[in-house]
Amino acid sequence: MKHLYKIFFLYLLVVVLAESHFSQTQNRSKTDGRKGEAELMKELKSEKEWKKLLSPEEYNVLREKGTERAFTGKYWNFFEKGIYKCAACGQILFDSETKYDAGCGWPSFSDAVSNKNLLLKDDFSFGMHRIEVMCSNCGGHLGHVFDDGPKPLGKRYCINSVSIKFDNIKNNK
Ligand SMILES: [Zn+2]
Repeated sequence: MKHLYKIFFLYLLVVVLAESHFSQTQNRSKTDGRKGEAELMKELKSEKEWKKLLSPEEYNVLREKGTERAFTGKYWNFFEKGIYKCAACGQILFDSETKYDAGCGWPSFSDAVSNKNLLLKDDFSFGMHRIEVMCSNCGGHLGHVFDDGPKPLGKRYCINSVSIKFDNIKNNK
């Protein structure tokens, strides 16, 4: 009989331990549960890590939301066929099919490859209201989107050359 009690208590102990462990992991995932935009971002790195990975110019634009000077970037006057990826994490962002010359000195696109790959956010800096465009995978700052683009969408994604990397993947096919 004593032996049976021992087994019973051991069983209880296991159940209690397992339950407390389960509730702990549940609580942990609840507190770690990021919502909204952070949920989209998979490539979460510390600013220290980004500083190591990116050039000073890339870091200034992508992480500190800087803007390259107009008519100075690699792609404002570049019209080869291919795709443009995020310079920080490599997520595909734009297609050369939608690139056009807006005359503003920055690469301009009329549409994104997928809206899921971009994060849009109200930006009230410099006393104006603009819509900031970020990469949804890493949160890197890309530029802004305006409503003065070509038809039918009427969008102009005004993007820093520093934030994107061209890949002529289509020519390699
Ligand atoms: Zn990215």
